[in-house]
Amino acid sequence: MSATEPEARQGAEPRTMQAGAKIVVRDVRKTFPTKKEDVNVLDGVDLTVREGEFLAIVGPSGCGKSTLLNCMAGFERITSGSIRIDSEEIERPSPKRVFVFQETGIFPWYSVWDNIGFGLGKMPFDKKHEIVMRYIALVGLEGFEKAFPAELSGGMKQRVEFARALAVEPDVLFLDEPFGALDAFTRLEMRREIVRIWKETGKTCILVTHDVEEAVELADRVAVMTRRPARIHSVLDNPLERPRDSDQPVFRELKD
Ligand code: ADP
Ligand code: MG
Repeated sequence: MSATEPEARQGAEPRTMQAGAKIVVRDVRKTFPTKKEDVNVLDGVDLTVREGEFLAIVGPSGCGKSTLLNCMAGFERITSGSIRIDSEEIERPSPKRVFVFQETGIFPWYSVWDNIGFGLGKMPFDKKHEIVMRYIALVGLEGFEKAFPAELSGGMKQRVEFARALAVEPDVLFLDEPFGALDAFTRLEMRREIVRIWKETGKTCILVTHDVEEAVELADRVAVMTRRPARIHSVLDNPLERPRDSDQPVFRELKD
């Protein structure tokens, strides 16, 4: 009999998180009060995200995927339940810990360099330049540091988004339908990029999408949400090979 057994039998909360767990969501409920009625969106969500994994959350439009992501990032307050990252209860957003990636979030009046440097705050110029250029290289935008968003293609703008999110060195990258606005070729190219970046940085990535194909192509595991009021129906191990071992985006040669 192990020493911890009596404690477990009494139903005591384990002091440490499950080994390898990065985020633990337990019985999370989220209700939006409106003038007419309370909108019950999350109805007891349970989910464990493993350290360093690429997890996709899929579900029909309007089921509460973005709401769940915003709760996990601390942007939205939960009605009840608990969300812990590294054993700590989430109370407010922390750019050092998490970052939400939104496709349309870059500033049109800032250059690529300024957009990526924006989140870094005050630091000596040389240090900032070193970090910004490192992430420009990571997303393959060398030579474009002085360009403005209007001069870039959709896929390039999205690379700027990635670089900006990654430059603050978050532990977890939250991706909310990041490919929605892109054309089909660019979407394929960016999917490859995202997997490559995930591999190179070792971040825990959580992708929300209504596109099951995309989820299966990218993720280690796929969590399936039910219709609203939503729960996690099941979490599936991905049986398919992903494009992880490709160094080059698949359609780059078509563009050059
Ligand atoms: P998804 O990302 O899966 O498409 P959302 O999380 O955006 O879904 O929204 C889930 C449900 O919650 C929708 O029915 C939406 O109308 C509702 N909802 C989201 N935000 C609010 C809010 N601030 N106030 C009221 N209802 C909201
Ligand atoms: Mg959404």
